[in-house]
Amino acid sequence: MKDSPDIENGAQGGGHVPLWQRTPANDTSNDRALRDRALRDTVEQTVDIAILGGGVAGTSCAYHAASRGLSVALLEARHLAARASGRNDGQILLGLGEHYNRLIGQWGARDAEALWNFIDDNHEGMLAVIEEQSLACAATRRGGLRLAEAEPEAAELRESTELLADMGVPARYLDASEVAEALPLSRGFVGGLFLEREAIFDPFAFVNELAMRARDRGARVREACTVTAIEGDAGGFRIRCADESEIEATVLVHATSALAPELDRSGFLGRTIFPFRGQILATHPLPAEVCRAMPPWAMSSNFCYEYFRMHEDRLTLGGMRWAVPGEETGIVDDSTVHDGVTARLEGWLEAHFPAIARAGTAMSWTGIMAGTRDGLPLVGGIPGRPGEYACAAFNGYGMSFAFAAGATIVDLIESGRSERPAATMFRPSRFA
Ligand SMILES: Cc1cc2nc3c(=O)[nH]c(=O)nc-3n(C[C@H](O)[C@H](O)[C@H](O)COP(=O)(O)OP(=O)(O)OC[C@H]3O[C@@H](n4cnc5c(N)ncnc54)[C@H](O)[C@@H]3O)c2cc1C
Repeated sequence: MKDSPDIENGAQGGGHVPLWQRTPANDTSNDRALRDRALRDTVEQTVDIAILGGGVAGTSCAYHAASRGLSVALLEARHLAARASGRNDGQILLGLGEHYNRLIGQWGARDAEALWNFIDDNHEGMLAVIEEQSLACAATRRGGLRLAEAEPEAAELRESTELLADMGVPARYLDASEVAEALPLSRGFVGGLFLEREAIFDPFAFVNELAMRARDRGARVREACTVTAIEGDAGGFRIRCADESEIEATVLVHATSALAPELDRSGFLGRTIFPFRGQILATHPLPAEVCRAMPPWAMSSNFCYEYFRMHEDRLTLGGMRWAVPGEETGIVDDSTVHDGVTARLEGWLEAHFPAIARAGTAMSWTGIMAGTRDGLPLVGGIPGRPGEYACAAFNGYGMSFAFAAGATIVDLIESGRSERPAATMFRPSRFA
């Protein structure tokens, strides 16, 4: 299938660097120097909140805390959005990978609706900030399409369409011929659920831009700052970093995703979070007529295990970890890819979008996620560790949760409670 060499991943390409971390869109965002030179804001006094980890979760916490006048230090080992937040597919979905009928089956109608509303708030809040504050992150809200490759899934999509319509959510079921009309280059889809408010964006640019807005509000950001140890207790934490700096804080937030267990002295996060790795490929630039035939939607199939979208003149496609032994669980290395996953992704593209597969794979990369047994994140106080909060384990859906989760953490720090009904579902203490 590959009819041109993988030069962008080869010696000239610099390894498995995500598309987002090399596009011109990022180079025109408001601080190009960010990736050439680490941000090293000074933190002289004890801060109200120290946030460990500068992905979408940590950055959202920093943005909300600084917006409410709290003093904040955001400490990131590499650079902002270096890990999953700058390595994902940039789909801002409503709902989760599980179709809505399954969410009701798992959680019951009331909790499934609360979950949906939390994600909806996240969605609207994030897109409002992007628009109001002109965050340069190529956000496009034209809709999203979940596709079925076989009739049993199509039946679940039809049922979910009705359940969502009952809640007043604009959702539309497309039969096989309507899918073929919407996606003329596609093959092998028997139905789809279209949600008109779903969106795509450049996740790396979003996190970097949001961090700049947090800095405008007084947050101090330190990149190349690996936290090595936490000492002290609530009201007087001392955070030691590999660069020999030391930061004092009243409370702290663990937003280090799959690496959070390393810094948690209680051992709780090690018992509740497990790492797993996802992989994406991007095609070579596609001919103009192919680009014109592909809508700017967030798209997925096979219960969202495979997901794809257009970015400029390329298609990105992720998934297929289920198809290799071990399903990429337990891995924390995001510098390599699994050739078996690449081959399965290329096979999927050949089967479903042969005209796109012809362009060949230009680059591929991986990212590490943190999972929990019930598929929901950890947002709240860590049991037995007063003053220490977790904002982590967003499984495969950090863009759907983390912005509202950051606001929830600040609510909990300020008042001990959150007005969002679903917040109780994310309490870490559910696993205690
Ligand atoms: C291939 C792939 C595709 C995905 N697609 C989507 C998608 O389309 N839509 C969606 O909603 N979600 C998607 N996700 C999931 C999403 O990317 C994650 O849920 C989200 O980015 C998690 O954000 P985070 O801030 O918790 O973690 P991260 O972005 O991983 O941030 C954690 C940060 O902590 C830092 N850190 C770790 N240890 C330390 C330390 N000791 N000191 C200081 N800093 C430290 C890390 O360097 C890192 O920057 C995808 C994920 C992957 C991997």
